[in-house]
Amino acid sequence: VNITIVGAGLAGSFLALCLGQRGEHRIDIYDRLPDPTAATGDRSSMNLGLSRRGLEALEHVGLRDTVQASAVPMRGRLVHDKNGRLRFTPYGDGGILAIGRDDLSATLVRAAGELPGVTFHFGLRCIDVDKELPAARFVDKQAGGEFVAPSDIVIGADGVFSVVRRAMHHRELAAYRQDYLEWGWRELTIGPGPDGSHRMAADVFHLWPRGDSMVFAHPNRDGSFTCTCVLPLRGASGPEPLASVDDVETHFRELFPDLLRLAPDIADQCLRRPTTHLLSIRTSPWHHDSKVVLVGDACHAVYPFLAQGMNAAFEDCIELDKCLRTHARDRPAAFAAYQQARKRNTDALAELSERNFSELRDTARSRLVRLEKACDTRLERLLGGRWMPLHSMVTNTTMPYAQAEQQAKRQRLLLGLLGSSLTVAAGVPIGRGLLSTARSGRRRTR
Ligand SMILES: Cc1cc2nc3c(=O)[nH]c(=O)nc-3n(C[C@H](O)[C@H](O)[C@H](O)COP(=O)(O)OP(=O)(O)OC[C@H]3O[C@@H](n4cnc5c(N)ncnc54)[C@H](O)[C@@H]3O)c2cc1C
Repeated sequence: VNITIVGAGLAGSFLALCLGQRGEHRIDIYDRLPDPTAATGDRSSMNLGLSRRGLEALEHVGLRDTVQASAVPMRGRLVHDKNGRLRFTPYGDGGILAIGRDDLSATLVRAAGELPGVTFHFGLRCIDVDKELPAARFVDKQAGGEFVAPSDIVIGADGVFSVVRRAMHHRELAAYRQDYLEWGWRELTIGPGPDGSHRMAADVFHLWPRGDSMVFAHPNRDGSFTCTCVLPLRGASGPEPLASVDDVETHFRELFPDLLRLAPDIADQCLRRPTTHLLSIRTSPWHHDSKVVLVGDACHAVYPFLAQGMNAAFEDCIELDKCLRTHARDRPAAFAAYQQARKRNTDALAELSERNFSELRDTARSRLVRLEKACDTRLERLLGGRWMPLHSMVTNTTMPYAQAEQQAKRQRLLLGLLGSSLTVAAGVPIGRGLLSTARSGRRRTR
């Protein structure tokens, strides 16, 4: 089968590996950016949390050890409060790995590119897809001109603003829902100390939750930390917050004084970096006939607060590969089975990721939320495998996201009942709060 993959990001190159390892297909994979293995520095330097799902997916394609060797293990989450106090929560089983996006991308492209039948083409932008042929049309900016690449299947792995998705849904009965947050993010770096070592604990994920703003940081191997600074899109004083050195310094002095000490150039960095929006996408269908199909952010971008977008994208690829083998003679059935298996889970992940943003913000504001979290962790210790905090289900297991969501709902209900019993027994308001949390089921972002 001749396959065109549009997008050689994490999902596209991982899928090229999965499909290419079968040795049954001819795969051409295109990306508008330059080759990540050439390390031109044009691509994002952001780093990502790789959890159990991602690791198992990498194991599936034989890359687990290679990736693990270039990652930094994080054994838990360290919350920095406004007064500089630290609160540690272990991740449990295996922890999470921090990995540079560039490194991971280059590793996937290198491994897939070595397979016979897989060819990467960089610097080519897809501008349209004919879903009936099927064929993808590309612009070659460097050489000038356009060309059409016909194939048996076009796979859209072209991320949140997918051209393949748009072309596939054109004139079809299709659903598309895009949500956004009124918060954006900027990437900041805490450089290594004078002797090249990390300036904070290097084996944890750092979090500074401050209600309407938060910063989180992953350790890098070179002694630095990559921070994601989440802040409201509209500042108190105007449409663009942190627009001057004064704004930034005041913001950090008030909310993150320790960060200002760790990265004295933070104002400069903050003003140089663009603010990127946070989008969540749910859509359907994910495929057209036997000819076009979507994977990764192209069909389900989620807010990054559970650090699962890439992990979920890898799961998509494995499922798609499995369905193509199971329904080898009926491709529409293969694509339908793939969507059926994945969509309910990625929809659940979208919900959970949104809710986790509220919870991270509330961790700073609400003692009740902190109490709930403490109960959750306590119950996990007491009841072993019969009770698992949502975060553990998502990051430490490969339990389908929809199942994790259901189990978390049941646990919240039980926690609520426990809370109301406490209220009756001790007459304390704690129980009322726990009960109302359980009843409301979810907290709204705004
Ligand atoms: C701030 C932030 C933090 C995150 N942290 C985590 C984390 O810790 N863990 C985690 O699992 N996930 C995380 N994610 C999510 C993760 O980055 C995405 O889910 C993942 O990158 C999706 O992979 P993808 O290949 O589908 O899309 P992308 O990585 O966006 O790749 C799409 C590729 O398609 C190419 N492309 C796009 N349009 C075209 C076109 N027209 N023609 C040709 N090529 C095209 C792009 O150049 C790109 O290479 C985070 C996301 C954000 C925003």
